[in-house]
Amino acid sequence: MSQQVAEPFEQYIGGEWTEGDGEETFESTNPATGETLGEFHRGTDADVDRALAAADDAFEEWAALSYTDRAEYLWEIYNELKDRHEELGEIVTKECGKEISEGKADVNEAWDMVEWAAADARHPHGDVVPSEIAGKDAYMRRKPKGVVGCITPWNFPVAIPFWHMAVALVEGNTVVWKPAEQTPWCGQIIAEMFESTGIPDGVFNMVQGYGDAGEAIVEDERVATVLFTGSAEVGHEIAGKVGGEAGKLAACEMGGKNGIVVTAEADLDVAVHSAVMSSFKTTGQRCVSAERVIVHEDLYDEFKDRFVETAKNVSVGDPLNEDTFMGPLIEGEHREKVTGYNDLAHEEDVEVLVDRTELDSNEIPDGHEDGVWVGPFVYEADHEADLRVTEEEVFGPHVALMPYSGDIEKAVEIHNDTEYGLAGAIISEDYREINYFRDNAEIGLAYGNLPCIGAEIQLPFGGVKKSGNGYPSAREVIEAVTERTAWTLNNADGIEMAQGLSADILTDD
Ligand code: NDP
Repeated sequence: MSQQVAEPFEQYIGGEWTEGDGEETFESTNPATGETLGEFHRGTDADVDRALAAADDAFEEWAALSYTDRAEYLWEIYNELKDRHEELGEIVTKECGKEISEGKADVNEAWDMVEWAAADARHPHGDVVPSEIAGKDAYMRRKPKGVVGCITPWNFPVAIPFWHMAVALVEGNTVVWKPAEQTPWCGQIIAEMFESTGIPDGVFNMVQGYGDAGEAIVEDERVATVLFTGSAEVGHEIAGKVGGEAGKLAACEMGGKNGIVVTAEADLDVAVHSAVMSSFKTTGQRCVSAERVIVHEDLYDEFKDRFVETAKNVSVGDPLNEDTFMGPLIEGEHREKVTGYNDLAHEEDVEVLVDRTELDSNEIPDGHEDGVWVGPFVYEADHEADLRVTEEEVFGPHVALMPYSGDIEKAVEIHNDTEYGLAGAIISEDYREINYFRDNAEIGLAYGNLPCIGAEIQLPFGGVKKSGNGYPSAREVIEAVTERTAWTLNNADGIEMAQGLSADILTDD
């Protein structure tokens, strides 16, 4: 299925396409136009059960293959993602509304991740460790964990599934994946790709559907590891459930209330550019999007003028048009959430600087009247005020400018004053300030003189505090999907123990 779709599409379980047990179907909708893109069968608990049984059955033979044999299937997907870059980028844009360069970047990030995972099949796996006993060899070896459940969000509908699945599969695990309900078309295409590689039945399974299908994956005892990327609300619920189960792991990556610090030593061009990109790219719907910009009083007024002017003018519209900066929000329900926070800002009595909650009718392109539109919302907030709008993740183009006075320590204190800890940036020409931010900002993804968006997969991707718990993403996912064995082999004639432990056995003679 590569072009516009219609039929109720099926789920991919145990190497077969199936409608599944349920009667219900659901639709994928283009958020820029309101048109229906396709209809999909909705997975049930029974479908999840069959997918997990298939993954469980397939595990032993899959794990017995060599790393490079397993990686061969991923190389085919790598080539297909590259060959179909333009087409798939357009599909991402149609299904989740990201402007077209972002739609294509999502596909590019997916093949980066697949390349990293498949190439890692030829890299050392584990460590040779010196033993304190000369006659012993000591190693750390890795083994696959078993069945990995993957639950992904809509905003990177091709890249994030491969963050989870590429490494999990090359390491020898089998997977059951549930795509987000908003992006089943991308799910369908990825499942077709796996099918076309001829990967053994049951190694990869996809159940379409809603949160209840995700819950059924999380709660099943055959699942060794749950990889989850999505909201803090759902991620913490999953971590709480899995945390109580012996031998089972949940690695969850969640949202943020990300901040950019602009110090008195900042280059203003870099500051405005970085803050605009971080706040409004992807219509603010990246986990790493900035919703707080903390600016030193010495250049606050000039920064504010330039930021506000840009926010008033960034283009919102057809995401397939290369000149568009911001596409639509993902769906009507999410628009209610974002506009609710814009209303709350007014109620919390902050000074609103830009309010493009309702776009002018002439801004909405022809044929896009049913799109889910919202423009930038910018306000000024006192960092000492106790405001919900500066504390809660909005996940939209809603940003606070927060002036501060004092030194870098003060700026970082304001930056860290949030329960979240995902991404952030410092804009400064002073290396001491930059280093202070690097060492003291409570975040997992930190940038200097850059936007706080735009991670690369060969770096760790994950947050701290309420944002992260276990790196289900990028290169670090290897830790979540493998067991480590500490393997020690004795090459001497007798037995000698470490730490001076006596190896004598007391006998009568
Ligand atoms: P959600 O948390 O709503 O959904 C994520 C996935 O979890 C979906 O597949 C969803 O199904 C499923 N799900 C929902 N409820 C449950 C449940 N009780 N048990 C198991 N699975 C469940 O996130 P969104 O899709 O709305 O994505 C936006 C959020 O993701 C933002 O908070 C954003 O910050 C965060 N995010 C974090 C990233 C990171 O790496 N830190 C990266 C990208 C996004 P369904 O589709 O039916 O809701």
